[in-house]
Amino acid sequence: MKRRFLFGKNWFFEEMKLGESPTFTWGVIPEKEIFVGKSQFQKIEIFGTKEFGRILALDGLVQLSTKQEFVYHEMLVQPAMFYYWAGSGGRPERILIIGGGDGGALREIVKHKLVKEIFLVDLDKKVIAVSKKYLPSVSQGAFKDKRLKVFNEDALKFVKKYKKFFDVIIYDLTDPTGPSLGLWSAEFYRDILRALKENGVAVFQTAYLGERFAKKARKRIKRIFPFFKIHRAFVGCFPFDEHTFSFGSKKINFNKVTFREIKSKYKKLNLKTKYYSPEIHFSSAVLPRGVK
Ligand code: SAM
Repeated sequence: MKRRFLFGKNWFFEEMKLGESPTFTWGVIPEKEIFVGKSQFQKIEIFGTKEFGRILALDGLVQLSTKQEFVYHEMLVQPAMFYYWAGSGGRPERILIIGGGDGGALREIVKHKLVKEIFLVDLDKKVIAVSKKYLPSVSQGAFKDKRLKVFNEDALKFVKKYKKFFDVIIYDLTDPTGPSLGLWSAEFYRDILRALKENGVAVFQTAYLGERFAKKARKRIKRIFPFFKIHRAFVGCFPFDEHTFSFGSKKINFNKVTFREIKSKYKKLNLKTKYYSPEIHFSSAVLPRGVK
């Protein structure tokens, strides 16, 4: 975390352009230090703020804020689940979460009572432990779900072990720096494609709309997956642009999934969501001209 003294207060500033010297930034005043520590893999910080609630930062990069994380986690998970429900003709039974140690994506999966097995692979068990302890509103007890198996391994090796195994794969990794760097690669996207069942859906957190590395990642995913779709949402703790979520599938043509199908599934399952709705499902996939 970059701490600087400004206007009589200590501020947290996030570095904006990964791998480049920053030419702009954003800051927030930490009102309360909750946790500062180092795991084998990364620096972990949690602090309280007035506008954002608690913020989790890994190696100085903001991962979530407790007041805004519902937008990110619902928009990462629910469109993928509903694409599967509506597009595959079956029910999503086996789910893999890659990363996601804070438990937010897991909480969204746990809402689907018909899911049978949930695998979560996060390299860093310390992120899971401190998130459970200091950010309980994020996982909301989901780590206790009987369907869950947690693996503290490098996802790069883990995913290679599976072929046509998962119905839905959720890629909830840190931006490409430190331990996640090698997972923003065509090779890893191909491994994910291989690990998906024929009717499966994968979703990737692909950072800001305009970021250079994010554009590159989306281009690669689009090349590798027969069907591809971008959705976007504004997440308050990622304040510089809209955040993108990229969906890939072997068989499900996302453009053929209709509003009626999504709406009827959503009604039937009776899920509680604060941001996601069938209307948002479709409006979030309308993109400005020129976006790829
Ligand atoms: N919402 C997020 C964001 O803004 O980037 C991602 C959240 S989640 C905390 C990211 C997780 O990815 C972290 O817990 C981190 O330990 C995990 N991770 C990073 N590299 C990994 C790897 N190679 N294998 C498995 N998990 C990894």
